[in-house]
Amino acid sequence: MARFQCAVCSFDDHATWAGELVCPRCGNTTGVRAAIGMEEMTDREAEALTALAAQWSEDGDDAE
Ligand SMILES: [Zn+2]
Repeated sequence: MARFQCAVCSFDDHATWAGELVCPRCGNTTGVRAAIGMEEMTDREAEALTALAAQWSEDGDDAE
């Protein structure tokens, strides 16, 4: 899911992210903003974030 905001029809809600910046209501492609959730990331992006989090966690353990 992603949150879409459309400047044309004032749509402001969550809708399924289809990989394109298109308004779910009016189909407009300009003036549309979308905030994509982590679940919409590719596996590679998610793995990179997970690896970073693990690294930070390890650093925290070392400090104790
Ligand atoms: Zn729209």
